[in-house]
Amino acid sequence: MHNTSMQIGNRFRCYPTPAQAQTLLAWIGCQRFIYNAKVSEDRYFRRFARQSLAHAGQFAPIDQQYSHFKTELTPWLGEVPSQILRNGAVLWKHAYGRYFSKLSGRPGIHRKTGEQSVWITSELFSFKPVVDKSTGEITSYALHIGTPKFSLGQIKFTTHKKFKPAASLHISINAGRWHVSFNYDDGVPEPSVQETTEYLMQFSENELRFATVGLDRGVNLPLAGSDGQKFGFTVVQDKRILDQERHKKRWQRRQARRTKGSQNWVKAKRKVARYHRYGADVRRDVAHKTSFNLASNPRYKLFVFEALKVQNMTKRAKPKQDENGRWIRNGAAAKSGLNNAILASTWGKTKEFLSYKARRSGKLVIEVPAFYSSQECAACGHTHSDNRVSQSEFVCQSCNHTDHADHNAAAVIAKRGVRLVLSGACIQKKSKKCGILKNKVGEVISEPVASLPSTLGETEVSRLGGNTPALWSLTQETPAIALA
Ligand SMILES: [Zn+2]
Repeated sequence: MHNTSMQIGNRFRCYPTPAQAQTLLAWIGCQRFIYNAKVSEDRYFRRFARQSLAHAGQFAPIDQQYSHFKTELTPWLGEVPSQILRNGAVLWKHAYGRYFSKLSGRPGIHRKTGEQSVWITSELFSFKPVVDKSTGEITSYALHIGTPKFSLGQIKFTTHKKFKPAASLHISINAGRWHVSFNYDDGVPEPSVQETTEYLMQFSENELRFATVGLDRGVNLPLAGSDGQKFGFTVVQDKRILDQERHKKRWQRRQARRTKGSQNWVKAKRKVARYHRYGADVRRDVAHKTSFNLASNPRYKLFVFEALKVQNMTKRAKPKQDENGRWIRNGAAAKSGLNNAILASTWGKTKEFLSYKARRSGKLVIEVPAFYSSQECAACGHTHSDNRVSQSEFVCQSCNHTDHADHNAAAVIAKRGVRLVLSGACIQKKSKKCGILKNKVGEVISEPVASLPSTLGETEVSRLGGNTPALWSLTQETPAIALA
């Protein structure tokens, strides 16, 4: 069984000087140009192959060639280090590998809006240790970017935690803020999902129930745990997020009315990005704290989320009528819709972060079907809409079990997760994704296999490193749920 070790991710604010920023923007632009040129080239060849019988089955090779894009029409490509261009082609090839592994769609054009970034490999930067002269210890690292020919010098960045230098990094800009981010392998092996599942299957149902926390999307908070924990925003964060979202909506409307590309349009666009950033930062922060809190709790070995209830996400608030029966504006509807979207995005992020944090400590995150989880009694299993007395109150009509509705739903989810793991369904699901590979020596190794079209035999597919989330959905294999 192969073990992977953990990729530790870092993301720090950095502060390039105006001159450095200009160079970095050129690097970003040239790398995006090569990436998009590869995408267009591939599209062209695939269309050509479809149209011509003679070329049926022939495709553009999935290679990293990029030098043919450097022509007299693109002189600016000669003004950046060649590694920047090569990395654009490598990024495209990696994206194609993910497509073959069915981890994402076919690579598409990278747009010039939103976060922009450049991938820099070790030839183009160095972390120089800063040593404390009195103790001789390394206190921090200075980041130098560029080659002797294309030198940017040292770029200032702020750290909020300890880190190790990495082999490659991304420098990105979003809404006027620069970040440097990188991963490094900490060398500590982590168990595979299969191994963790097999370990959990040795427990009895009661033992596993004790080590399991079910996580429900609360009515007014992102997450409610079956152990009674509630995770959400502070009152101040809550109010500020809604305020900033309202500003964002207003500026989005203004931007839509203005002439595209005009000065006022650009101003509105910047405002939208700025108001969006606050909410995004808070959501990420809450998701990191929540997932850390859960993953580091020694009692828990299994985390169960319910699969997303799409109909709830798009449900509109009930229309209102005044005493004469006339329809009136429903201000609460807009607010609750917005609030719901914020909660949902925080919930999704928490699930994503918890997946990798749990996997690293040999714990498991799974999803279970959400059907009637709000109407089922966690104590006796009686399922009826009458059980849900109000938005927050749950009273079982069969056994009189009384609970807060969020808490009861979380307990139901935990129970379903425990049964799912013990039934072995998680193992079966996993084995479908595995194939048997024979290497040259004849040893049989079991590894996830990318399904390759036969016409692309020469293609080398890069599998993702430690970044694939250990989360898979079991919505398709729904265990029968008894309805009373
Ligand atoms: Zn009951």
